[in-house]
Amino acid sequence: MHRANLPEKTVERTILYKRLLLNLQKSGQQMVFSYQLAQLAGNSAEQVRRDLMQIGFSGNPKKGYVIKDMLQAIEAVLNNPFQQPIILIGVGNLGKAILSYFTYQQPHINIVAAFDRDPNKVDRVIAGCRCYSTDALEEIVARENVRLAILTVPASHAQEITDRLVYLGIKGILNFAPVPLKVPDTVICEQLDIMLQLEKLAFLTQVK
Ligand code: ATP
Repeated sequence: MHRANLPEKTVERTILYKRLLLNLQKSGQQMVFSYQLAQLAGNSAEQVRRDLMQIGFSGNPKKGYVIKDMLQAIEAVLNNPFQQPIILIGVGNLGKAILSYFTYQQPHINIVAAFDRDPNKVDRVIAGCRCYSTDALEEIVARENVRLAILTVPASHAQEITDRLVYLGIKGILNFAPVPLKVPDTVICEQLDIMLQLEKLAFLTQVK
């Protein structure tokens, strides 16, 4: 199947398989059965085999799969997103925490620039990343060929910044601002509303 036709859920599961396989590899394991991967991923062996088929990986399910080969097939499909330049807009408390996490814990993630409108933050290196004025957004997005953005501005400014990002050709937005964003079909927006999810958990665990 062509990469563009992979269903979103398959992509999500494949990313999870990759992470699990890397963990297994680190612990010295070289082979894995679909039922083992399924147990770790919290789904079924049939689902794992169907996903592997969709990404074009064939192995011998009876003998188990060679982890190295499976990782190679997955990486060929996912096309290593870590090399893509990413920007972050809004270097407040959450933005800083995210920058620190990527700089110090996930250095393979390529955050090329951070942006803020606060003059006290502009032209400084914050949590390992240079912070630019939002006036420089156009220039840097074009120069670095940026397609992915992380949004950590307050809700009241999130749509306005999003519209600008869309206009500049950003294709994917990871939105931490607690407000749903309107984007055209050509742009994918993933919403990570921490407070909403926490409230949901608080409610669900209360009624359990
Ligand atoms: P701080 O007190 O350091 O500003 P905060 O997390 O309380 O942190 P928020 O009000 O949530 O701040 O804003 C997050 C960040 O987004 C801040 O650094 C703010 O300057 C920045 N910001 C707000 N509006 C915009 C905008 N339109 N463009 C760029 N950055 C913005």
